[in-house]
Amino acid sequence: MNEKFDYLIVGAGLFGAVFAHEAALKGKKVKVIEKRDHIAGNIYTKEVAGIQVHQYGAHIFHTSDRAIWNYVNQFAEFNRYTNTPVANYHGEMYNLPFNMNTFNKLWGVRTPQEAAQKIQEQRDAAKISGQPRNLEEQAITLIGTDIYEKLIKGYTEKQWGQKATELPAFIIRRLPVRYTYDNNYFNDTYQGIPIGGYTQIVAKMLDHPNIDVETNMDFFARKAEYLADYPKVVFTGMIDQFFDYQLGELAYRSLRFETETLPVDNYQGNAVINYTDAETPFTRIIEHKHFEFGKGDDNQTVITKEYPVDWKRGDEPYYPVNNQTNNNLYKQYAKLGAKQDQIIFGGRLGQYRYYDMHQVIHAALVTVKAEFESGK
Ligand code: FAD
Ligand code: UDP
Repeated sequence: MNEKFDYLIVGAGLFGAVFAHEAALKGKKVKVIEKRDHIAGNIYTKEVAGIQVHQYGAHIFHTSDRAIWNYVNQFAEFNRYTNTPVANYHGEMYNLPFNMNTFNKLWGVRTPQEAAQKIQEQRDAAKISGQPRNLEEQAITLIGTDIYEKLIKGYTEKQWGQKATELPAFIIRRLPVRYTYDNNYFNDTYQGIPIGGYTQIVAKMLDHPNIDVETNMDFFARKAEYLADYPKVVFTGMIDQFFDYQLGELAYRSLRFETETLPVDNYQGNAVINYTDAETPFTRIIEHKHFEFGKGDDNQTVITKEYPVDWKRGDEPYYPVNNQTNNNLYKQYAKLGAKQDQIIFGGRLGQYRYYDMHQVIHAALVTVKAEFESGK
């Protein structure tokens, strides 16, 4: 047994970093291992051409929980960025999320009453009765068939590689529907992008004499030794991989990011443009400088195209696919996990949940509380 450390944390993402930080503050000695060559998991940002480039897709922090907002503000100052993505459907531009600007552009309606009537007509014509059984029914129930066809179906089916009729309804409920002229993508009270990027947040969390971080180290290269050496392990990788896929594979969705620096000052006029047709192979283009209000070199801009990819073993598992089958399988893995007192499973992959950053911080703090208040 390792005399030096109380905890081994597998994964230097947000969950692992919050746990490590809180454990260190409680006097525990923590070893963090990370298989990538950098810390911060999927929130990793890096400076290029004078701006912070989000290496694993656009990350906008948002929460309505004041405690979580205060917590994260210990580690960075946030700017006032509000996410207002725009959709490009075969060259037609629409504001997102679905709001009066979208309805006006699409139908020429001007008042909330006219918009509501239009959506009701489309809902009635679609004849969906009872609880929506899948994403398509949920979308049409919320917003009608025109928006479903132009702004949801193509994007969703390429993003998830499945028919919208086979996907769970909750995915589309992430997006607000608003009868006001308000393009804010989130309903939350607090929102922004950390000035100087996200990596510093994790770096500051891990910057403690009780924490030792090792990158380029995969837990599975030494699993048996790690389990023999460390009294407690916090595992934020894939729970099915931890158990050697013994009950079967959980499904994930992967992505390929194509980043380029272009010799133009302003490429697309917005941080995020979604391509909602079925034919364009990428889902969105991010232009990173628009997260930071005029920062960055003139006549240079960095853009990233995001291509959805089928996941296979060895690929980065960016999204859990939380349909009924996978959730049931996850529950079986979680049962196995609960029998192992030595291991805590956490984060998007360890808990197989479509967590946003604020939810990961919350989940990690709940885990910390359970761990340190139960007197273990
Ligand atoms: P991760 O960040 O995945 O960290 C897990 C870490 O564990 C990784 O670094 C991984 O390399 C490491 N690891 C895994 N297995 C092993 C192993 N065997 N050995 C060693 N290390 C291992 N959230 C928002 O709030 N707002 C957004 O706008 C937003 N946009 C997003 C866009 C995209 C494209 C994606 C994919 C996610 C987005 N998120 C967003 C979600 C956000 O990224 C997550 O909530 C958060 O990063 C999850 O933190 P985590 O620690 O659970 O996982
Ligand atoms: N979505 C869509 N059209 C869009 C944007 C999103 O149909 O222009 C759907 C799609 O199914 C997506 C879901 O809404 O998976 C959630 O969108 P969000 O922007 O929250 O996705 P994330 O940033 O997590 O990839």
